[in-house]
Amino acid sequence: MGRSNQARLDLGALRHNLAHARQLAPAARVMCVVKANAYGHGAVTVAQALDPLADALAVACIEEALELRESGITSPILLLEGWFERDELPLAVANNLWVMVDNQRQLQWLEQARLPAPVTCWLKVDTGMHRLGVAPADVAGFHQRLQASPNAHDDVVTCTHFACADEANNAMTARQLAQFENLTDGITGPRSAANSAGVLAWPSSHYDWIRPGYMLYGNSPMVDPHPNTGSLRAVMTLVSSVISVRHVAAGESVGYGATWIARRPSRIATISIGYGDGYPRMAANGTPVLINGQRARLAGRVSMDMITVDVTDLDAVQLGDEAVLWGKDLPVDEVALHAGTSGYELTTRMPARTPRVVVA
Ligand SMILES: *Cc1c(COP(=O)(O)O)cnc(C)c1O
Repeated sequence: MGRSNQARLDLGALRHNLAHARQLAPAARVMCVVKANAYGHGAVTVAQALDPLADALAVACIEEALELRESGITSPILLLEGWFERDELPLAVANNLWVMVDNQRQLQWLEQARLPAPVTCWLKVDTGMHRLGVAPADVAGFHQRLQASPNAHDDVVTCTHFACADEANNAMTARQLAQFENLTDGITGPRSAANSAGVLAWPSSHYDWIRPGYMLYGNSPMVDPHPNTGSLRAVMTLVSSVISVRHVAAGESVGYGATWIARRPSRIATISIGYGDGYPRMAANGTPVLINGQRARLAGRVSMDMITVDVTDLDAVQLGDEAVLWGKDLPVDEVALHAGTSGYELTTRMPARTPRVVVA
């Protein structure tokens, strides 16, 4: 009934991608990042698949963590941005959540709290991202105070985050790593630095914990092709179908703003998916779309509920034929390039209007 739009989820691919991360960093424990509704895939579905396999999960904030606890997830869950109000900390501890500590205010709240049990703390160090984290000069002091506090577990994890690890030759990552080495030299306890790009391209960043997000969903964060991304398998495949096919004479335009003009007699297929369904409005003329597995090109502006595709060169296209917007056989990052964004944004912005359907 209704439109055929689906974000199909291949949970076998998810497990495969996690195994790939483990294989790349065999000595590290794996924290699977499932923030922002698991990058749009559906946090509960994804976390339930990963719960028995991950060493820990990570989300952005306590609301996301509590949703997972309510659905029966038992792995430790790290709050990547720590906590935002004093009262959240006891609630976090009561739910077996771990916290990032990245500023003076959180440190004081922690020291002053009355907690049912000590909390596992990750100390975030700013090695150049300049977004969150403790300044290099303050790291030793923070670490000491955390270890001294009865509210914090003794093995504080020291961690940092990369700004440019998606570029395999960017010298910034080496600089960040060198600073991190320096800062953690006299400090005991586990260390963590690698996001997906670190896992894939920077073996010296693996340390004791890796924190992959994007790669688990089968997509490559790397700007250029990299040998370690070849075996990733897309988890989300966004599908829709053809609801209209028409001939358009040479010289005629298609869609709002008449931005696409037929240079030859053309066949245009209309697909029942638009920016209201998570397909990016900024996708330009020429963006690839798979119809019956064959590549065609977007022709005309993306509407709220529909797109139009030039199928002149394809075998006969019929009403009801399947269209794949991204996923298996069409990397979301390739589509994202045509829309001036990244695949991270495309999957993460997938609205509730598009049903997630587990297919494998
Ligand atoms: C989101 C996030 C990650 C995961 O990043 P990916 O590029 O998706 O692998 C890791 N660490 C922190 C602190 C994050 O915020």
